[in-house]
Amino acid sequence: MTELSTPLLQVRGLTRHFPVRSGVLLRTSGQVHAADDVSFDLNVGETLGLVGESGCGKSTVGKTLLRLYEPTSGAVLFEGRDIASMNKAELRRMRRNVQIILQDPFESLNARHTIGKILEEPFIIHRLGSTAERRRRVAGLLEKVGLEAATANRFPHEFSGGQRQRIGIARAIALEPKLIVCDEAVSALDVSIQSQVINLLLELQREMNLALLFIAHDLAVVKHVSDHIAVMYLGEIIETATATEIYRSPRHPYTQALLSAIPVPDPGAGRERIVLEGDVPSPIEPPGGCRFHTRCRYAQEDCRQLKPALKPVHSGASVACHHWQSLG
Ligand code: SF4
Repeated sequence: MTELSTPLLQVRGLTRHFPVRSGVLLRTSGQVHAADDVSFDLNVGETLGLVGESGCGKSTVGKTLLRLYEPTSGAVLFEGRDIASMNKAELRRMRRNVQIILQDPFESLNARHTIGKILEEPFIIHRLGSTAERRRRVAGLLEKVGLEAATANRFPHEFSGGQRQRIGIARAIALEPKLIVCDEAVSALDVSIQSQVINLLLELQREMNLALLFIAHDLAVVKHVSDHIAVMYLGEIIETATATEIYRSPRHPYTQALLSAIPVPDPGAGRERIVLEGDVPSPIEPPGGCRFHTRCRYAQEDCRQLKPALKPVHSGASVACHHWQSLG
């Protein structure tokens, strides 16, 4: 039994490197530092937004939580249990409780199967219910995500992008999980469809007391859905805080730059747009010291030499920057 206060998910020092192979013998010539020393908690019924530019490692973190990738080091605890030490039965139970919604609804749905068959699959895998019972549950799932039960006989290509993402959501909630990893789940959708899908997710979250790990590159979208936000840069978390606080007073220069790109309704009250110079450095050889120093307008000599630790600034907020207190 877990204590009531134990977070649903605890990620501790999670690191995932991918080998780079080269030459005729495909010898390992380096490592892609996809995620380095990532730590966070996620409580029952809450949403953590994981945000950063494309390639910053956020999707790697999401997939490592489901053991789609094995961690290089670090630990992932679900309901207080380290998923690396789970036996088969525990892992099976954990996989019922942790689901994922991917970015491209079309690619994640088998084009040759009807929607009914796609949605029935989780029940078959977990040996739940008779055929008639499974069909009833599929009809219920479709209605829950705003689609007619009769659409069970149709194929994925007969649906729009937004409808396919609703089907992806129906599949994710089929087994009544406790946590859903939404990996860029709305990024491929038009803005108006995005908000419909987000509203559906929030409705289901309230109804089912779901925890969401909401991964996206768009801070505006993440802010709308999240209780807390963790900002990633080149494989590392560089700032965490509540969504309100990150939006109102970002501390890390990278978070400030991401926020400055969000359009504001009143142009007179707009923030200064901070344009980041240069490209994101290679994750194969990330810069020493502060990984952001090659693009930071406040970088000083110590930033090139010393790595800033992610330090608490008060309860629930932390930042990895040597100079955040003296920045404007
Ligand atoms: Fe910029 Fe230095 Fe802070 Fe890194 S530690 S974000 S380089 S000021």
